[in-house]
Amino acid sequence: AKRHGRGRVTRYAPGMVEAVAERHALEHDLRIALDKHQFHLVFQPIMSLSNDAIVGYEALIRWQHPTRGFVSPVSFIPLAEETGLIVPIGAWVLNEACRRAALWPAHQHVAVNVSAVQLRSPKLLAHITSALAASGLPPHRLEIELTETALVEDGRQVAHTLSAIRQLGLKIAMDDFGTGYSSLAHLRDLPLDRIKIDRSFVAAALNDKHSMAVVKAVTQMGSDMGIVTIAEGVEDADQLALLRSIGCDAVQGYLIGRPERQMNSRLPVVAISNA
Ligand code: C2E
Ligand code: CA
Ligand code: CA
Ligand code: CA
Repeated sequence: AKRHGRGRVTRYAPGMVEAVAERHALEHDLRIALDKHQFHLVFQPIMSLSNDAIVGYEALIRWQHPTRGFVSPVSFIPLAEETGLIVPIGAWVLNEACRRAALWPAHQHVAVNVSAVQLRSPKLLAHITSALAASGLPPHRLEIELTETALVEDGRQVAHTLSAIRQLGLKIAMDDFGTGYSSLAHLRDLPLDRIKIDRSFVAAALNDKHSMAVVKAVTQMGSDMGIVTIAEGVEDADQLALLRSIGCDAVQGYLIGRPERQMNSRLPVVAISNA
């Protein structure tokens, strides 16, 4: 970069100009992705440890771009949040998740990830109610997953929105529990129904006594507070056995099932005949 002298490029690290251009291109593509029907949802099962039944599914967004191919939500969700595009994208996710879940057996719920930006949007409640109305899904079968970062700022406003969501009859889960700040304060102060223990703790529990202690303590706290605990990222039988033995309520992870595009033809017969 020095060879270009003291001109306008000196402020940029090598590759930065390209990165900015790439970001703009991705943002441009993201803007048209909804109209072009490039998103779809996959569903990952959640299994109760009281009877080993599949009690619901988490909806996860997928973006199939015509030339980029599959773009991970880990890279486009943050961009969608910065640009505000997460609000219309999130509305689509809510609609699609409810529409699909309405075809499942009545004991199964759908869990939808809602970002901090959506939680602050005055449109969120309307998006939830219209997704429920359009699909006919009963509110108690819809759960909202929030990460701790969604809850940090503006605590009173967030608590108010959460109460309104709960009054509609939805359940609220704290996602990635243990990875954010002041987890315990949130547990005490916010109206939560579920805690999802972050997969980093689950993955390390059998090799690291501190992770094990966290998993045990969160499970115990959840049980004392009447909050359902769900362990994320369960990948092997030893982890499952551990979670069972300490009284965790439910599990999710590759061992139980990968996120899948659940086509309508693969739905259980009961769901179709009940529809
Ligand atoms: P998350 O909400 O924590 O979702 C769980 C992630 O862990 C998913 O990644 C899932 O595929 C992955 N996973 C599940 N089981 C296992 C396992 O056993 N092992 C491992 N290694 N991974 C497992 P995915 O689908 O790539 O999503 C990443 C993140 O993107 C999500 O993390 C969530 O924060 C965000 N996201 C996904 N879909 C949506 C959406 O519709 N709306 C919003 N706002 N965020 C979304
Ligand atoms: Ca989640
Ligand atoms: Ca999670
Ligand atoms: Ca996560």
